[in-house]
Amino acid sequence: MALTLEDALRNDADDPLHRLRARFALPRTADGESAIYLCGHSLGLMPLAARVDMVAALDDWARLAVLGHEQGERPWITYHDVLAAPTAELLGCRPEEIAIMNTLSVNLQLMMASFFRPAGHRRCIVIEAGAFPSDRYATATHLQWHGLDPADALIEIAPRDGQECVSEEDIEALLARRGEEIALVLWPGVQYLTGQAFDLGRIARAARAAGALFGVDLAHSVGNMPQPLRALEADFAVWCNYKYLNAGPGAVAGCFVHQRHFDANRPRLAGWWGHELQTRFRMPQAFRAAYGAAGFQLSNQSVFAAAPLIASLGLFHEAGAQRLREKSLALGRFFAELLAVHTPQVRIITPREPAAHGAQLSLRIGTDPARARRIFQRLAAHGAICDWREPDIIRAAPAPLYNSFTDVFTFVMRLAEALRAA
Ligand SMILES: *Cc1c(COP(=O)(O)O)cnc(C)c1O
Repeated sequence: MALTLEDALRNDADDPLHRLRARFALPRTADGESAIYLCGHSLGLMPLAARVDMVAALDDWARLAVLGHEQGERPWITYHDVLAAPTAELLGCRPEEIAIMNTLSVNLQLMMASFFRPAGHRRCIVIEAGAFPSDRYATATHLQWHGLDPADALIEIAPRDGQECVSEEDIEALLARRGEEIALVLWPGVQYLTGQAFDLGRIARAARAAGALFGVDLAHSVGNMPQPLRALEADFAVWCNYKYLNAGPGAVAGCFVHQRHFDANRPRLAGWWGHELQTRFRMPQAFRAAYGAAGFQLSNQSVFAAAPLIASLGLFHEAGAQRLREKSLALGRFFAELLAVHTPQVRIITPREPAAHGAQLSLRIGTDPARARRIFQRLAAHGAICDWREPDIIRAAPAPLYNSFTDVFTFVMRLAEALRAA
């Protein structure tokens, strides 16, 4: 069993992706030491090439001003195409099905405006209990905006008593039982708190059998694990690009609309950038939706919030989805083995079957909340960056694009030390 620093170093030496680490800015602690960064599930690191793309965008603005819309290295009017193609490759769908725009919560509201169409008895939205707050606020207020009461129209599926994670079986059972009331199922690819990855194909089939539309929130799964959207047949998907996709704080987000919904008459909240390109600048009064997901855009591209994404998508392409996933699973196994030996009181709540997790492991510290918090603070003071969720959960995610086996080893040693000291 590989458990020493020498093993970690050997794993790094054998890792064909290890060299990509040098293409990222690695954060440092206040005293100049390298930090151990296991927080890519919250904010990915900066690809060094992001600075180059950002400066190129600034230079076009400086040199060309308004002419930058049509001239320059990457003209702003068609900047979207530069982002949609590699995103489609990563997500296993067609570029026309991708829109890179706004931010995640905004896109979720916009997609619900188009795809949550309550009618008659069918007017409920299904989400997971304990959803990321923004998703819960978005679905609850969206129901209210339709004059519906979330107390009965928002159905939240909880784990069984004593369990941390929701079983797909329970989702199927609910959809079979109450299917006729359900207009939309919104489900995460990876649950933000527990790190559980779902069999979305299975949930999609159950939603379809119930006659409901199926939307997915991929905030914690894009760039984390393969999630082929075409095979999944989701109706829509939304995600942010600043977590595993490393596009920087508040980066422009993503949106997928399945080809079967390209009908230009699909209801939407529109803006001029969703108008077909050929006639957009004749400023017609009547809206004509551009073909595909592009027809759901509202505003012109946020170029400075999008430029860093180009570099990151390039690195994903270079690494290859399969190799990234293999490394991610190897990092996770190494992490879990180390925890079992050095911090036996810590419980991993993330499911351990490979198909049911991505990079993140969620750890219950297994002590009273005040001491658990002190342990986390001690970790932070010793340069280990991960995150804390009440009452006693540490989330830590080795991102296969830039984290090493040595990072994981050092993290567990510091956690063990913090457990002893607190
Ligand atoms: C990170 C995350 C968000 C954040 O929303 P923003 O609009 O990007 O601020 C929302 N939902 C989920 C599930 C997330 O993981």
